[in-house]
Amino acid sequence: MIKKVLIANRGEIALRIHRACHEMGVKTVAIHSTADTDAMYVRLADESVCIGPASSKDSYLNMHAILSAATVTGADAVHPGYGFLSENAEFAAMVEEHGFIFIGPKPEHIRVMGDKILAKEAMVRLGIPVVPGSSGGVTPQDDVDKICEAVGYPVIVKASGGGGGKGMQIVRDPENLRQAITIAKTEAKANFGNDEVFIEKFLETPRHIEVQVLSDEHGNAIHLGERDCSLQRRHQKVWEEAPSPAISEKQRKTLGELCSDACVKFGYRGAGTFEFLYEKGEFFFIEMNTRVQVEHPVTEMITGVDIVQEQIRIAAGEKLRLTQKDVHFRGHAIECRINAEHHQTFAPSPGTVVAYHPPGGLRVRVDSALYGGYRVPPHYDSLIAKLIVLGNDRAECLRRLRRALEEFVIDGIQTIIPLHQDLAKNLDVVNGEYDIHWLEHYLESKEPAN
Ligand code: ADP
Repeated sequence: MIKKVLIANRGEIALRIHRACHEMGVKTVAIHSTADTDAMYVRLADESVCIGPASSKDSYLNMHAILSAATVTGADAVHPGYGFLSENAEFAAMVEEHGFIFIGPKPEHIRVMGDKILAKEAMVRLGIPVVPGSSGGVTPQDDVDKICEAVGYPVIVKASGGGGGKGMQIVRDPENLRQAITIAKTEAKANFGNDEVFIEKFLETPRHIEVQVLSDEHGNAIHLGERDCSLQRRHQKVWEEAPSPAISEKQRKTLGELCSDACVKFGYRGAGTFEFLYEKGEFFFIEMNTRVQVEHPVTEMITGVDIVQEQIRIAAGEKLRLTQKDVHFRGHAIECRINAEHHQTFAPSPGTVVAYHPPGGLRVRVDSALYGGYRVPPHYDSLIAKLIVLGNDRAECLRRLRRALEEFVIDGIQTIIPLHQDLAKNLDVVNGEYDIHWLEHYLESKEPAN
């Protein structure tokens, strides 16, 4: 069994992992930059090591410093959380080469799924439907017109090594195609160090629906149902819910089993998420995330399964304790991502939290590393809290959400709580009638006219 876990992350997810570990009797080591010395996850961990200056590349992305911290503290496993090094195959391999357990998939699976082109090829082989598009990478010199005519306009040019919704170019007019490919390649090179891009059909009204899986190294896999993450801004999720208001029990079962079967065939180990776009009754795979997701709590709320604890057990080589028959879905859960940003301009708003009062009560969960007096550093992602609520059904869940949002006090900095308050009473959202473009249109319609 794993006795001590080094948490190679920061903020709310570092605290989330710490909590899972302590409930299992596992000790924790926090790592932190000089900007995070006073962070709550650092205070709560059994041990902590400062691994570098504020800049992520010198701290949370510094593999050698992290491995040295694991060595000096005698940790036996490393949990990467999400973001930072969580989907870096080289890091996973280094962790294992140094004799530590990597709490995640095998490095070669991280590598394949981290490359959207290879991932789509793998899914086709595993019998999972993908978004139609080019069969591999493209350059402006290729016969791309032919590909796009076959696929049908509009198309989207995406980076094979992409993430965080960055570097995508939508093309509606064939005349702009080559320029869009050139721009996408430049952005991909700058952001991901890999300029490979590919073409996909751009879906006009899809929902983003993803399936959570757990798979052990003994050939067992289960799914924990889906999450609907269609409310997005700049291709980034803002609000997530489970189950999806748009799919049936039968679709859930079919899609879930397709994903868990794929894990068994692929020999996948750990927690993972298959992301799909869903339009007109059809699902199209877009990518697989080989780590715990920001929005994993909504699944935990409706299934009662602690996904982080399961990750740790799987990494320790245990067999899954649950079979598909043991997974029961109960009620409806919604998560609101609370970012330290202005709720209309989305300008980042780091600074000191003067007062902090999270909501409470039945079936209300807040995952956050904030406290009164804490200074949100300007160097990292703006996500500072996640509010997750559960209801017997979606209507009750929405009522509880509105109540919890009313109670939530974060003073001293700007947050997007007012946006969530608007969304929670918006008729389209209340009716579950939204697609991945809905939030952008909504925000545009609210912009003051010049
Ligand atoms: P990333 O890894 O950067 O998050 P994804 O491939 O997961 O990129 O896509 C992120 C989001 O971008 C999706 O949830 C969706 O909103 C949008 N998107 C991606 N591919 C398409 C597509 N083919 N058509 C329409 N929207 C898309």
